[in-house]
Amino acid sequence: MTYDSDALNASIKAAIAEANDDLRALSMSIHGKPELAWEEHHAHDVLTAYMEKQEGFVVERKICQLDTAWRASFGSEGPLIGFCSEMDALPGIGHACGHNLIAIAGCAAAIGVARALREHKLPGRVVLLGTPAEESGGGKCLMLERGAFDGMDACLMVHPGPRGNGAAAMTSTCRTGVTVAYSGRSAHAGGAPEKGINALDAAVQGYVNVSTLRQQLPTTTRVHGIIAGGEHWAPNAIPASSKLLYGIRAPSAKDLAPLIPRVLACFASGALATGCTYTTDGESLYLDLQQNGNLTDAFRSFTEAESGSEGYAVPREFPTFGSTDFGNVSYIMPGFHPMFFLPDAHPEEFPHSSSFAEAASTLSAHKAALQAAEGIAVVGLRVLVDEQFRKATRKQWEANMAAANAEEAVARIRELLPVSKEPIKGGFCSCDH
Ligand SMILES: [Zn+2]
Ligand SMILES: [Zn+2]
Repeated sequence: MTYDSDALNASIKAAIAEANDDLRALSMSIHGKPELAWEEHHAHDVLTAYMEKQEGFVVERKICQLDTAWRASFGSEGPLIGFCSEMDALPGIGHACGHNLIAIAGCAAAIGVARALREHKLPGRVVLLGTPAEESGGGKCLMLERGAFDGMDACLMVHPGPRGNGAAAMTSTCRTGVTVAYSGRSAHAGGAPEKGINALDAAVQGYVNVSTLRQQLPTTTRVHGIIAGGEHWAPNAIPASSKLLYGIRAPSAKDLAPLIPRVLACFASGALATGCTYTTDGESLYLDLQQNGNLTDAFRSFTEAESGSEGYAVPREFPTFGSTDFGNVSYIMPGFHPMFFLPDAHPEEFPHSSSFAEAASTLSAHKAALQAAEGIAVVGLRVLVDEQFRKATRKQWEANMAAANAEEAVARIRELLPVSKEPIKGGFCSCDH
């Protein structure tokens, strides 16, 4: 197939420029009404209403038996490119991960590619997914299992980061979470403490054990958590229940799998020392990002040509100790998840702070998001129209998968920490960048 990439890219740019004002309004509407994981009803409604107005798109609401997941599809034949719009916010600090920007960047990329295909009469399909619950719960994990990503040749999305940290090839860690629930027996703390079994002590011991273990862990791992369950505690009664909520992270599933029994032993010994019983429940496993080098290079050359080294999406490798459920997508198909930076965010301040939430609402952040969206639209369109590029991208993904060789480790992690197949609301904040 012959095509004129300059003309195609001009169509993308024109479409995104035309959508600019509406996308800004959408972003501010979502930013002004932050919703937690699995509860992104407002974002779901405004985004689907907007995409329904776009020429050629078919919108499906509440897909995958999830109340806030959605799909906007364009085209009926040819290769398929996917984009993701995340929507959820954080407890207490609102859109401190900038998912309002991710949401509109997904729309912009999908609209841009669709316009180029239409204007130049090229075959190709676009699917934009509204993916809930990235901060906790793993919406993409469930949507992968339920077929939403089926048939995509590649999937792309963008994420904001701190000033100066735009990165085409950001990395993320492999992460799982665990809730430990201890049960003991209540008793009068003054009158008959010997009749009690102290569940708070079990949690404290488990917590201290992990802190002790931490010194012997590789510096590339993270084990972090809190003691919870105190709503029924009183200083004059032996606590009969308690919880530990933990995140466990390592560079890859292979690194994470051997870490988990060591952490679980810390929790078990808290129960053993105090005589409590306990249960463990796993959280969604977020795999490390497998950035596709072919997609990364294409994004890098486009953004460098557009923005130079001072651009919003200055491409370079950037290790984060955060995690994302898009990592799981990148294990199923070629995936690309660059990070663009917010010009008004503090360079030392990462997402998940209240000042980052403020920075995510500025006009300069909006411009940065749309510039990054242009980048993934250009790369996504190339996947559709350039067969050689598409094949090379696939080949690279196959090589990445062979190198990662993660299946056994993933199976071991899932065996050690089984996860519910249904959304768990109110999970602790487990992501992120
Ligand atoms: Zn995020
Ligand atoms: Zn986050």
